[in-house]
Amino acid sequence: MTEIRSTVILGSGCAGLTAAIYSARAGLNPLVLEGHEPGGQLSMTTLVENFPGWPEGIQGPELIENMKKQAARFGATFQLAPLAAVDLKENPFRLQTSDGEILTRTLIVASGASARWLGLPSEQALIGHGVSSCATCDGFFFRGKEIAVVGGGDSAMEEALFLTRFASKVTLLHRREGFRASKIMLDRVQAHPQIVLRPNTIIEEVLGVDEKEVCGLRLRDVATGEVTTLNISGLFLGIGHEPNTKVFAGQIDLDGDGYIRTSGNVLVTKEGVPLAGVFACGDVQDRRYRQAITAAGSGCMAALEAEKFLDEHEH
Ligand code: NDP
Repeated sequence: MTEIRSTVILGSGCAGLTAAIYSARAGLNPLVLEGHEPGGQLSMTTLVENFPGWPEGIQGPELIENMKKQAARFGATFQLAPLAAVDLKENPFRLQTSDGEILTRTLIVASGASARWLGLPSEQALIGHGVSSCATCDGFFFRGKEIAVVGGGDSAMEEALFLTRFASKVTLLHRREGFRASKIMLDRVQAHPQIVLRPNTIIEEVLGVDEKEVCGLRLRDVATGEVTTLNISGLFLGIGHEPNTKVFAGQIDLDGDGYIRTSGNVLVTKEGVPLAGVFACGDVQDRRYRQAITAAGSGCMAALEAEKFLDEHEH
């Protein structure tokens, strides 16, 4: 017979690992299921300057590795097994992974959000051939080359700044005049001699599909309608993220963009009513703050709720 676990945590980013630390210390022996992006967004970032307790900042991957060690020290276990299907109709819940079925009394969903793409066929064809959503992973390949970053938020600013370490010139493309990035990041970008800002610009096509290597972009100025070509070797996406919730469609409440709806911060609902034993934390349920520290905080809350649920149902 398949063992019934107390707690399974879906996702090993900041939220999932904090939930793992708390539930492991509560003696729940949590199993953390790691998906396609182990460690989540922090593992793909560089210096994190705003996580309390690190006055000089800490590298994102190091912060994640520390959290993982901390959770493992109290008995959390980890399995690299993306979730294929889930059945939340009855408790224990059934999770189908590439490694088989897992049964659990509580489920903490911390599956985060993944990079968004423009959706152009030429962009999709050139992923890994000059088109990337991860500056820290791929920036190295563009040493001395001219590249472009698309987006107007903090992610795009951070990517553009980071990429100046490698690229000779970074053109930042944004679809409108105003930027939603924080002032401090935008100021840094505007002051940087290697970065050129091009607002009011959309990408119509990534050039180089036949050559299997990005060689430029066809751009349109939305204010003037003018179409131009920008010669670049790399395009980095910095246009936000989408929540990883496809597997839950129809089983829990999602908002119009696929984020998990919660009540009482981390309680997952079904048709507006809390679904007992299922909790969500981190970016998968937070479209407003999306910070490492808020993800960690909600991970803690989810673990405390799971513990409370198990207590109440055992006695
Ligand atoms: P945001 O949602 O803030 O920004 C996404 C940007 O991409 C917007 O400018 C948006 O344009 C643009 N965009 C979205 N879709 C498209 C599209 N299809 N075509 C062209 N442009 C598009 O996401 P971020 O990932 O930048 O930031 C998310 C959160 O994380 C924020 O709260 C941010 O502050 C935080 N963050 C903080 C960092 C830090 O402090 N170091 C670093 C990175 C992120 P438009 O403005 O027109 O909607």
